Amino acid sequence: MSRPKLLETHGCQGGAHAGYVNAGWDVTGVDIDKRHVRYYPGRLIIADAATYIREHGHEYDAIHTSPPCQWYTRGNAKGRAAGNSKWSRSIPPIREALESTGRPYVIENVADAAWDMRDPVALCGCMFGLSAIDTDGIRIHLKRERLFETNWHLRPPRACDHSGIEWWAGAYGGARRDKYEAKFVRKGGYVPPNKDVVKALLGVEHDMTWNGLFECLPPAYTNWIGRQLLAHVGERAA
Ligand SMILES: [Zn+2]
Repeated sequence: MSRPKLLETHGCQGGAHAGYVNAGWDVTGVDIDKRHVRYYPGRLIIADAATYIREHGHEYDAIHTSPPCQWYTRGNAKGRAAGNSKWSRSIPPIREALESTGRPYVIENVADAAWDMRDPVALCGCMFGLSAIDTDGIRIHLKRERLFETNWHLRPPRACDHSGIEWWAGAYGGARRDKYEAKFVRKGGYVPPNKDVVKALLGVEHDMTWNGLFECLPPAYTNWIGRQLLAHVGERAA
């Protein structure tokens, strides 16, 4: 039996890709940046996401998108208010393209974009027990909440539960590389300086650049989504 086909736009360096593949999907990626080709673990087509979705989206069984989050983030508040940001409000045009295909879809974005998403479901590292052992032997837990809008019913594995978690870590640029300073002085924002630790924390197995790791979706998230999406597509076909 051939695998159902998933289109993944804004594929970047393939964090989301791995989770969908392990869930049973045949994944084709799309990204505007050809530098990602050497890291993306599958077939990556270089194209504009909305244009590709409108032209080819119907050839797939489902579509995952991760529109650029930069316009929505706290750091862009001034540019957004002044209307001079180099980024744009990326979610509505992608949603319009997705709706034109009639396919089940996923739109992923950051918590700051919640207001521009329809009933998003939050997934968090704690729901999947994502953690790693840091170079000093301390277990650190992934702090990475992401929102998912779907036009089908997606449920989270469980509610957030951070009780008993002592050490947090994330993966993003411009962050603290000292976990004691992060915890006790800055109150958060530790990113391990060791790349293998960050990869283990995110559950990423293939090679990526630091920026790829900073932007990647943990495969556990898309594996969870991918299995439910597979069931949904199966029900539609039956
Ligand atoms: Zn949580």
